[in-house]
Amino acid sequence: MSVSNIDHFVNGHNVAGSGARRQDVFNPATGAVTGRVALASAADVDAAVAAAQAAFPAWADTPPIRRARVLFKFLELVNQHKDDLARLITAEHGKVFTDAQGEVARGIDIIEFACGIPQLLKGDFTDQVSTGMDNWTLRQPLGVVAGITPFNFPVMVPMWMFPLAIAAGNTFVLKPSPIDPSPALFMGELLKKAGLPDGVYNVAQGDKEAVDALLAHPDVKAISFVGSTPIANHIYETGARHGKRVQALGGAKNHMVVMPDADLDQAVDALIGSAFGSAGERCMAISVAVLVGDVADRIMPQLIERTKTLKVLDGTNLAAEMGPIVTEAARQRIRGYIEAGANEGAQLLVDGRGFDGAQAGAGCGQGFWLGGTLFDHVTTGMKIYREEIFGPVLSCVRVPDFAAAVDIVNAHEFGNGVSCFTRDGNVAREFSRRIQVGMVGINVPIPVPMAWQGFGGWKKSLFGDMHAYGEEGVRFYTKQKSIMQRWPESISKGAEFAMPVSK
Ligand code: NAD
Repeated sequence: MSVSNIDHFVNGHNVAGSGARRQDVFNPATGAVTGRVALASAADVDAAVAAAQAAFPAWADTPPIRRARVLFKFLELVNQHKDDLARLITAEHGKVFTDAQGEVARGIDIIEFACGIPQLLKGDFTDQVSTGMDNWTLRQPLGVVAGITPFNFPVMVPMWMFPLAIAAGNTFVLKPSPIDPSPALFMGELLKKAGLPDGVYNVAQGDKEAVDALLAHPDVKAISFVGSTPIANHIYETGARHGKRVQALGGAKNHMVVMPDADLDQAVDALIGSAFGSAGERCMAISVAVLVGDVADRIMPQLIERTKTLKVLDGTNLAAEMGPIVTEAARQRIRGYIEAGANEGAQLLVDGRGFDGAQAGAGCGQGFWLGGTLFDHVTTGMKIYREEIFGPVLSCVRVPDFAAAVDIVNAHEFGNGVSCFTRDGNVAREFSRRIQVGMVGINVPIPVPMAWQGFGGWKKSLFGDMHAYGEEGVRFYTKQKSIMQRWPESISKGAEFAMPVSK
């Protein structure tokens, strides 16, 4: 199989850049190297930022309705090529094709939202704030903004960022994960076909070196980051120190509370889908089941059976429920967590370490495979409870009542997503109000907000003030200006030395 180079996208063209460093890209299902991605040097980042900076004045001056028309065309092209994008995701990430299609669909939602930019940018106007004087606000783009994105959603997470950023008149530099770098280039190609001027969207492939160059670059005005908590924290602190606006979304440990009155069949479906979908490599995956009262005894046989019979197959197989783990390093990390859980005394009911990749499909014997893993009797002091595993491992914690369930969720350092399964409206209401988590589902296992609502966790799951996309996204990518205006005919004569007040 041929191994092609995967390059940067600068000023409307694929470019190799300095080309000094490259990293292997794998098909996780087979373990084969399929590409060699360029890793940007500071000079390569500089070239991408310079292209974006040069494109900014004309793009910022383009009327929002015309920017929206480019996005409408892009939307049409993404819809035409949505399965091509999904295939690229499966090839480098490994997630099953149907899930990759879902990822692209959720990205499309954001493009659709961004197409409404003329309405979203409307300011406020107050007539006659003082005699003969009006005051209004408007929102203007920031300049060059950068997005730094994780491996687990190589299409959707960049689409949380660039459609709104460029719709608002900014120019953009994307630094995708080097693990699955190809979709970023394909999106660039589609944007160019849609009529986006060269330099408005650029891709600098790379690792820490590229990120550090973006963080320190004086022409980068804002950074949107999505990834793990330690890096999110680093991005937030370093970006702020360099005077940038930063939103940095971090890791997660999402709980699902199951009350005794819940529909338990629905709850089991929800737990299995949300713990093992995308091999647990979602920031909104449920990794902890909080089973209240006698729920654990009632559902454990089903959970064991369903975990054992997951269809773990090559993601290109349409029957697959779960694909491989993204890299061998991630697989080893997850295996280490399973070992730690067993050593710390959690009950290992289903052990995914025994899964043989050869069962997943032809050529999968050397891929990065694990089966689903289920632990019961997990306690809050254990490493598998405290830390984000980011793999197909579901930990069950038993609690006596609702109050204990709320307490343990609230005591956790992460606060991305949470859900509660119940039939009791008051329990649902109390849960939604008291829980210290940014995104809450009631009988919804993965409550990812829609494009116009905004996405963001609390506590160590988000550093910064504003959520991704939605109206908060528009605010993040623009700065407000307030204008007060009067005309010579309405100005009374003479200098005024006291604080101006309404007259
Ligand atoms: P990661 O933190 O390793 O990488 C994220 C980005 O940061 C990548 O572009 C990577 O190249 C870059 N990076 C990695 N190490 C760096 C370093 N030392 N200095 C500077 N940049 C660095 O995350 P990942 O493994 O790609 O993605 C999984 C993580 O992302 C999980 O923790 C998951 O919860 C989180 N995530 C969060 C959300 C959310 O919305 N909160 C969404 C998706 C993923």
